[in-house]
Amino acid sequence: AADAPTFTFERNASPIEANERARLLENPGFGRVFTDHMAMIRYSEEKGWHDAKIVPRAPFQMDGASSVLHYAQEIFEGMKAYRLADGSTALFRPEANARRFRDSAIRMAMEPLPEDLFLASVRELVKIEQDWIPEAEGGSLYLRPFMIASEVFLGVKPSSEYLYAVIASSVGAYFKAGAGAVSLWVSQDYTRAAPGGTGAAKCGGNYASSLVAQAEATRKGCDQVLFLDAVERRWIEELGGMNIFFVFDDGTLATPPLTGTILPGITRDSIITMARDMGLTVREEPYAIDQCRADAESGRLREAFACGTAAVVAPIGMMKMADGDFTIGSGGPGQTTMRIRDALTSVQRGKLPDPRGWVE
Ligand code: PMP
Repeated sequence: AADAPTFTFERNASPIEANERARLLENPGFGRVFTDHMAMIRYSEEKGWHDAKIVPRAPFQMDGASSVLHYAQEIFEGMKAYRLADGSTALFRPEANARRFRDSAIRMAMEPLPEDLFLASVRELVKIEQDWIPEAEGGSLYLRPFMIASEVFLGVKPSSEYLYAVIASSVGAYFKAGAGAVSLWVSQDYTRAAPGGTGAAKCGGNYASSLVAQAEATRKGCDQVLFLDAVERRWIEELGGMNIFFVFDDGTLATPPLTGTILPGITRDSIITMARDMGLTVREEPYAIDQCRADAESGRLREAFACGTAAVVAPIGMMKMADGDFTIGSGGPGQTTMRIRDALTSVQRGKLPDPRGWVE
């Protein structure tokens, strides 16, 4: 477009050497290996969005009174750039991340970043950092756009200045288990989000408040925490960083509805669409934890899986809770789960037709 924002580019004069990069990319794990550059844009009331640039990745200098450090006015996104079968790189539904980032900003009383600026920042950074996409199966470049309140002021009010940035991290598979099944700890003491709260926004505070429950899950020997609703403590909501699906013996699927307390996952939305394209019935409906346990025990519930950008699709083998543990299906990856995982990852990597134009 004629008015497409331009980013100034300052190349990193001492990038990580190719040999060292190759070594890092062999086994990158998740969120520890970072690329040489980052995108940044600033906002002030006087100048609006300005100073869009790609610069060497470096620590930020911040005043101790920057309001994000006190009142947590902060939002982020998570998305991946993939290497396609033909060697080119692509993002998956980046407009959906741009829109959700905007929605998160509005909920947190922050200045929404125009979606074209969000998309341009991510695309520019990916173009420069393509060599950081691991070649190994399951590897990708995880992009982390985020925005912080940078006004130097201790009053409790929406900041008048913001700093938006995108960093990139080479990643492999999210769960050590690889293709195995994960276990969930059902949190009955802690909740994640209440009606009217920030559950549908991707703000750092949601994650800060979930850590104690995640730590409890780890202590109980589980991979992830499963949150229930804050009102009745009965309805299944989502995991600390993933949405959840169930597969029943009649072949239908169900996932909790978007009522404002769970994050509207882009993977969740993609799976609903793809599963329906495959001829499967998907219901967005509340599911109570007691019913889930009863259905797992009776065999009506055959499979469950978690989904999100980082983990893609992870089969759930068992749930543990204060009143006892239960296994789902065989306790291992289910057939429908793996079929959906294959379909999604194949589209994301350009190995299947992409009728909806999700891969770009
Ligand atoms: N729920 C939560 C709480 C999350 O943090 C995420 C990861 N963004 C998801 C669900 C899945 O969202 P997506 O599929 O867009 O990655």
